[in-house]
Amino acid sequence: MRYGLVSDIHSNLMALNAVLQALEDSGPLDGLICMGDIVGYGPQPNEVVEKLRTYPLQTILGNHDLAVIDKLDLGDFNQDAVDANVWTRYQLNEANRAWLESLCQGEHLGTLARLNDKLTLAHGSPVEPIWQYLTRVVDATLNFSRFDTPLCFIGHTHLPRIFRLPAIGPSETAEQNKIKKIFAGREKHPKVEMRIPEDGYVLEIGDDRVLLNPGSVGQPRDGDSRAAYALFDDEAMTVTFGRATYDIGATQALMNEYKLPSRLSLRLDYGL
Ligand code: ZN
Repeated sequence: MRYGLVSDIHSNLMALNAVLQALEDSGPLDGLICMGDIVGYGPQPNEVVEKLRTYPLQTILGNHDLAVIDKLDLGDFNQDAVDANVWTRYQLNEANRAWLESLCQGEHLGTLARLNDKLTLAHGSPVEPIWQYLTRVVDATLNFSRFDTPLCFIGHTHLPRIFRLPAIGPSETAEQNKIKKIFAGREKHPKVEMRIPEDGYVLEIGDDRVLLNPGSVGQPRDGDSRAAYALFDDEAMTVTFGRATYDIGATQALMNEYKLPSRLSLRLDYGL
């Protein structure tokens, strides 16, 4: 099956449409997997929710979604985010708000989910699903012990990242086992490796464990203004990273019309 990976869409419908087009151009999609922050910041929250729901969708919530449905204290956000979240609260229609609320469940308020034996989703990270910004190998290393599937897809930082924990080699012979026992505690453990995936990069997962972030659809922050996404093929066990250009000016024009904070609109030009 082929799944589009989308995260941090942030009410940016034009970016989402460009990503969906790019994904569909590469072949038929079996569904979308979303790592949260569907709304907040951008100008079209209702349209984004409704567009996502036209696909078979597996999604969790992010901190901005929770703030918009009044499940997180706005005091934890910066002023531009507060202004955009308050605006979004008033924009969201009843049905779309109810849908977001229906996803807010359990200890982590819907920001962490074990989808199946292969895949866990977390907005920030498995350790801290609402708030952790997972950018460093040291933090990723700790996180690998906090989920039990081979794969975990995350969002929140708006930065495409791959953290890979290489598989331990094939099963050892009796002789190797004997030696290993003698040196117990001194054997080398595989180390987490980090990669920043460029547009078009294909990750071959193999037997490794992988924590990855496809980047942000609606507000990229890696200096590349194009919308970020990825394609997960769960039979080939590959993830292909991509970037899609979209009409940033048209999104900004809507944001200005709705008097959303100008810094939020300006940063889209720079991917910051
Ligand atoms: Zn976000």
